[in-house]
Amino acid sequence: MAEVLVVGSVAFDNVETPFGKVDDVLGGAASYFSFAASLFAPVKLVGTVGADFPEEFLGWFRSKKVDLEGLQRQKDGSTFRWVGDYGYDLNVANTIDTQLNVFADFKPKLPESYRDAEFVYLANIMPALQLDVLEQVRKPKFVGLDSMNFWIGNPDTKAILSEVIKKVDAVFMNDAEIRQYTGSYNILVAAREILDQGPRAVLIKKGEHGAVAVSRDGVFVASAFPLESPQDPTGAGDSFAGGFMGHLTQSGDTSWAGIKRAMAYGSVVASFAVEDFSVRRLLAITLDDVRNRYAELQKLTALEAQLLSST
Ligand code: AMP
Repeated sequence: MAEVLVVGSVAFDNVETPFGKVDDVLGGAASYFSFAASLFAPVKLVGTVGADFPEEFLGWFRSKKVDLEGLQRQKDGSTFRWVGDYGYDLNVANTIDTQLNVFADFKPKLPESYRDAEFVYLANIMPALQLDVLEQVRKPKFVGLDSMNFWIGNPDTKAILSEVIKKVDAVFMNDAEIRQYTGSYNILVAAREILDQGPRAVLIKKGEHGAVAVSRDGVFVASAFPLESPQDPTGAGDSFAGGFMGHLTQSGDTSWAGIKRAMAYGSVVASFAVEDFSVRRLLAITLDDVRNRYAELQKLTALEAQLLSST
């Protein structure tokens, strides 16, 4: 069975939303991605944590059969930490503190068994590390990439990010990030600028308003699943990407039709992730839960046939 490799942050998060507050919970782009993708396909994780990272969290990865051979545990040093909060507009994350800690000088050497991965996801982390990992994978079939304002706003890391973008198949960014990266206000115009740099698809995440895919084959709008009581949007983007890449890995269908289907799976998985803090909800769901919600989303978004005549 095909596998998906992910590199990205594995973190302690302190998060506050209008609905609650948690400290020292498991976070990180690669964590959310791994649990989301593992619903569909085996996951291989590349990253690093400090000696302070609890055995309990490692057990959660193992319980979902996430391969941890590429997760380095550093004896001296602390795990990456992110502190953030949200107001009632859950689409806007406010970063209060980012501590790279063990990631600051992390130089991974991919285990031999990782280098033949066909599906690769460069989750949010310093672009130099994304590039380093990508260069160690032999012949990937489909590579996805995410980033954020923290890396786009710094000219040095942005320059490396632009190098990585040229080498990937799909770029995942939210609407604010794609505007910041390209300097173009309109997201369709911005997406075309990124397509001109090489990728086949640009997937623009719009939080509770869903996601838009832009490729040379067309544009596709995937609705988000409407929820009455989201609790914590942290990790929604990574869970969307995990559902997307996990499904693509399972189906092997990287055509435009396959990409559109994967987007719907991404939306469904992300909708579960935001129903609780940290990775709690992702750990609790099964593929059957995903399938049932996919069917509901299909009904919610089907358009009726047109009735107007053309006079
Ligand atoms: P998302 O809400 O999907 O954009 O991702 C949230 C996760 O990204 C959190 O769990 C954080 O630990 C992690 N994160 C926040 N800032 C960074 C950063 N600069 N680099 C890598 N990961 C980050």
